[in-house]
Amino acid sequence: MTRILFLFIDGVGLGPDSPENPLSTLDLPSFRALAGRQPWTSRSETIDRPDHVFRPIDATLGLEGLPQSGTGQATLLTGENAARIHGRHFGPYPPTTVRPTVQDKSVFAQLAPLIGTDRLAFANAYPERFFQHVEARGRWTVTTLAARSAGVRLRREADVRDGIAIPADLTGRTWQRLFDADAEPISEAEAARRLVALLDDHTFVLHEYYLTDKAGHSQDPARAASVLESLDRLFAGVLEAAGPDDVLLITSDHGNIEDLGTKSHTRHPVPLVAWGAGADAFSSCRSLLDVTPTIVELLTR
Ligand SMILES: [Zn+2]
Repeated sequence: MTRILFLFIDGVGLGPDSPENPLSTLDLPSFRALAGRQPWTSRSETIDRPDHVFRPIDATLGLEGLPQSGTGQATLLTGENAARIHGRHFGPYPPTTVRPTVQDKSVFAQLAPLIGTDRLAFANAYPERFFQHVEARGRWTVTTLAARSAGVRLRREADVRDGIAIPADLTGRTWQRLFDADAEPISEAEAARRLVALLDDHTFVLHEYYLTDKAGHSQDPARAASVLESLDRLFAGVLEAAGPDDVLLITSDHGNIEDLGTKSHTRHPVPLVAWGAGADAFSSCRSLLDVTPTIVELLTR
């Protein structure tokens, strides 16, 4: 039975080859492997094979302006055009106009009655401070709102110690620095093993990585390199650990890090990678709108 590991990566678009595009200048062997030995740029050829898809998908959603995370992620995780519902791109949090859609129509909400809530996992761990902050201000992110509304557990520090969750920065080094000097960081390879291990008893596992977007906003080449090289090590580990029935799905909500010449997001298409038996279900995806319906179809057919 097909299982999907969905690595959602914030702020990664497919832009032109340029000295400002770290995806074209850096040596990222696992990124390249996932694009058929090409860099992740607008020049790269689409790959459409039974077990491997690599293609650009639209993130502008038919609206003017720069795509933002709130509406982009809501669209990606529901299949509904959240930017159109709201009337414009909005972020980083989901606007109140879009929250009911995220609550009722997310990929978690759609899959729960079909395959069972216990078959769904959101692998990120959140520190206690996140819960205090969010409960005081009511500002859930798209992913946490989607998971929580569908009854999918939000993981915490204890889950990282138990080896069944991974921190947002993959290794827990940020966590150690900010919250807990005694917390033991893990390698990206270990993070990858944990993500794949979650597929042993789940059919759909989501992880969200947002440091790519942060690095894009910083316009700092060293920071972008550190983040992308860390992600490359995660990809290597996942490719090594994934089994024959596992589909690795990777996509983003909008461009950003592929143009360090600008502090803001871009209107570039974003990459969609699907890897593993059954990956070609994603070959018909053309925009953020198409991802959730394809996940649901693939896992319930
Ligand atoms: Zn951003």
